[in-house]
Amino acid sequence: MGNKNNRFSDLTNFKRNEKSRYIPVAVQREVSTRHFFECAWDSTPITHQHHIFEYAQGGLHTPENLILLCPNCHDQVHKGEIPIDELIKRKSTHMRGDRFPGLLLTNTENHLIRIGGSSFLNVQDALIVLDEPMISLRIENGRLFLSVRFYNKKGDLIFWMSRNRYWAPSSFRILTSRPGEIRIIDRADTDHYLRIWENGKSICITGNSYFKGIPIKIDERKIAIGPEGEANIIVGGGVINRPFGIVVHALNGFRH
Ligand SMILES: [Zn+2]
Repeated sequence: MGNKNNRFSDLTNFKRNEKSRYIPVAVQREVSTRHFFECAWDSTPITHQHHIFEYAQGGLHTPENLILLCPNCHDQVHKGEIPIDELIKRKSTHMRGDRFPGLLLTNTENHLIRIGGSSFLNVQDALIVLDEPMISLRIENGRLFLSVRFYNKKGDLIFWMSRNRYWAPSSFRILTSRPGEIRIIDRADTDHYLRIWENGKSICITGNSYFKGIPIKIDERKIAIGPEGEANIIVGGGVINRPFGIVVHALNGFRH
């Protein structure tokens, strides 16, 4: 076993006795029950059993090494779009109905994104903070796909959108009045929110949240990254045909 696999050692056994690729029915039942017959990642009620540590690499058919995922999330895990560490964390913290899944439906002609007064057109990663993309865009077959991640103050992932599919915690209030709009507000802290909506030919994003422990405030005119008084303020501009939009490498005077 290579060193990189050591942290999974309790989920694997290279001398396993199992001869079958098929997961025993009793184990499948236990995993399904543990995850309330819903996708552990986004609560979609159509599920597959996924080996956290892959069977082909020695992962076992055990309830500890299996998680329920919907076909879409399963696909994203295999493409590396869902971080394995988040998935492992989710396995132990998943509670029934603690997330709701959704889909952002937008006009297919809208390819312009407005974030904090800045416009982005044909930009792959609109906002990158300390090496991690927070807001990304892809245009495929003439349609815009948006990916967004928001964290809370403690560093927990609290909003996930990948290719317009999303989940949000049920501890948030959802105010969605039409298909091209998502508005979620933390019931415990109403200053903590996210809004994505269509406005004419563009899709706009505003919100107050945290990303990698850093406060991020996006209103309709500016993006403020960092704590009050020390924030990097980015005021409107335009970015087109570039792989990266706004990249924040470091925050002066900011500790995390
Ligand atoms: Zn899913």
